[in-house]
Amino acid sequence: MTVWLISAVTLVWICGGITAKAEESTAAEEVEETAAESKAAEDTLCIVIDPGHGGENLGGEYEDYTEKEMTLVVAKAMKEELEKYEGVTVYLTRDGDQELSLEERCEFAESVHADFLFCLHFNLSEHHTLFGAECWVSAYGENYSKGYSFANVEMELLQQLGIYSRGIKTRLGSKGLDYYGIIRHATKRDIPCVLIEHCHLDHDNDKPFYDHDEKLKGFGRLDAAAAAQYFNLSSAELGTDYSNYQNLAVDVPTDVVKPDDTEPEFCAIEVLEQNADNGDVTVQVSAADKDSGMLYYAYSYDGGESFSGLFPWPDRSCDTFSFTMQVPPRVVPRIVVNAYNGYDLFTASNVVSLPAMDYKTPEEIAEELAEKEALKSASDQVSSTKNESEDAMADNGAKQAEDDRFFLVMCAACVLLALGMTVSMVMILHGRGRKRRRRRRKR
Ligand SMILES: [Zn+2]
Repeated sequence: MTVWLISAVTLVWICGGITAKAEESTAAEEVEETAAESKAAEDTLCIVIDPGHGGENLGGEYEDYTEKEMTLVVAKAMKEELEKYEGVTVYLTRDGDQELSLEERCEFAESVHADFLFCLHFNLSEHHTLFGAECWVSAYGENYSKGYSFANVEMELLQQLGIYSRGIKTRLGSKGLDYYGIIRHATKRDIPCVLIEHCHLDHDNDKPFYDHDEKLKGFGRLDAAAAAQYFNLSSAELGTDYSNYQNLAVDVPTDVVKPDDTEPEFCAIEVLEQNADNGDVTVQVSAADKDSGMLYYAYSYDGGESFSGLFPWPDRSCDTFSFTMQVPPRVVPRIVVNAYNGYDLFTASNVVSLPAMDYKTPEEIAEELAEKEALKSASDQVSSTKNESEDAMADNGAKQAEDDRFFLVMCAACVLLALGMTVSMVMILHGRGRKRRRRRRKR
């Protein structure tokens, strides 16, 4: 019995030993693998792509579009394209509809020793007035200069695609730290990070750029090209060599790079021409903002009660430009222009009053033409009805005349018949009288 017990204990000990050894070797393999991975990560560039939102966090929603789905399509395409370059390892923070906190996304980037974190998003604006793309970067140190340098490539490519650039900006929260959580958590871990807002989902100007999955994949390939240029990558598969690409040199700021929180310094307008024949008014605008430059303008002809939609500032390196607006007829124009800076803050111009213009709009001209046409076709219809009735009357007259002729012929025939009968009767009676007279003479 004792022998059996000892044997059993020995067996358990041996098995336990084997299991422990197996566990040990698995752990050792894991350590080796991790070390190998870290070595690979050290040797190659490591890029982490973060498709914004996911799970319950839908992000922006507009019409049939949901941001969390769009960012995933872009991110997968960006990864696929970037992996065609040599010496780069690419990870996604999520490859499905998972919900992750901003901190978890940054923890993952840190765990794989990310050299850069690209956060992909789409935008919406409160009043559906804004359009274009923008990049948000950290307001601090190297993360600012690296972020800005990459964003400069990204914005250039987006502009080449035809999207309006809303610039490369910083934004601070109430505590003076980076406003966007993902940038804040990445900066804390010393990972350069850029938040790319590709365009606005709620503006017709931007719709042609995202209204198909293929276009979203195009955004992914564009983001990959921007990263490849920034990191001087090459791809034999793509036949692309960015090894000599010169990035914009951005000095490392010694202080926080504050966002612009003041309106443009001034905005003034002057009317250059007024055309009373068609309502066209040509206005010269001058405005400036030394902090974030000029971005949009909007005009009003009712003294600022209502405004046009936003228009892109034609040349952001120039403070003055002119444009032509049309003022409706019989309105006394009171012209005002709002000039917007890079942070969507605006300054209103002086008001210019002009005499009202009495001209006909193309709609009014078309309406008049339509009325004339309607009148003409109505009178044509009346005259054709009249002709028809006249024809009918003429037909009736001819028939009546024919009937009259027939009646007269019949009357004439009757008279002749009566006359013939009367003559015959007279001759018969006359004949009988002579016979009687002859008989009397014979007697
Ligand atoms: Zn977003």
